[in-house]
Amino acid sequence: MRRVLILGGTAEARELAAQLAARADLAVTLSLAGRTRSPAPQPVPVRIGGFGGVQGLADYLSNERIAALIDATHPYAATISDNAARAAQRSHTPHLALRRAPWVCGDGDRWIEAGDVADAAASIGSAPRRIFVALGRKELAPLVRAPQHHYLIRSVDPVDPPLAVPHAAYIIGRGPFLECDERTLLEQHRIEIIIAKNSGGQASYGKITAARALGLPVIMLRRPVLPLVPAVESVKDALDWLDHARTASMARGV
Ligand code: NAP
Repeated sequence: MRRVLILGGTAEARELAAQLAARADLAVTLSLAGRTRSPAPQPVPVRIGGFGGVQGLADYLSNERIAALIDATHPYAATISDNAARAAQRSHTPHLALRRAPWVCGDGDRWIEAGDVADAAASIGSAPRRIFVALGRKELAPLVRAPQHHYLIRSVDPVDPPLAVPHAAYIIGRGPFLECDERTLLEQHRIEIIIAKNSGGQASYGKITAARALGLPVIMLRRPVLPLVPAVESVKDALDWLDHARTASMARGV
């Protein structure tokens, strides 16, 4: 049995794991950062928590005799992707990144690019606006520098402690989100601007198409630079790669 490690936290990682779960020739483990309190059920054994940097992950790959590493983390999770690239190189583990293609700004979209959350908040200006914030709950802190706005914040787990701003409403939600529901949400809360990440994929695209339909601007955080490694955009291509990685792993004796 070849051992495969998937770095997850995304729908694609779960889908890949589901496709591999029944394979008798593979033993698959899915690794999660442990960011959510009750992670979605996974179709393969799961390990949770950081590895302890590049060397920690390299040691894990060697000690667990991992024959293939698939980095299917979120496109904004740059640190773990960088660690994965270095650890795979250090431990001579065949490695692939499964990365969602970014959304592309099209007709009717009003996107404004921002380098980070602080930039996004600064770009809105001093007049109070109603803003829908679709970011991770650990990324919100820079918004306190723009306390004049009304924020509607959606996260998987509660924002605790709440953001230190006078006007913030919170909703708990885990995608996928449909365009019609997103549109209702934006209208009910009289949202004027959205702050989002260019996550790609379908699960969170509903807010983007809803914004387009309503003519709302979206402040889109720029994607981080990710390591240059072999990468695919679909689960199917990752499955194909895995079968071709067999030769390399056999050469390592794993
Ligand atoms: P990160 O900044 O790339 O990773 C920080 C550390 O978390 C890593 O160095 C690693 O710790 C640990 N880690 C991350 N992913 C891991 C995994 N799959 N298995 C084991 N350990 C993992 O990632 P982040 O802090 O989670 O998030 C950065 C951005 O990605 C945010 O914008 C966030 O909203 C977005 N995002 C992340 C996830 C997710 O599941 N992580 C899901 C959706 C969105 P060690 O160095 O100790 O190994």
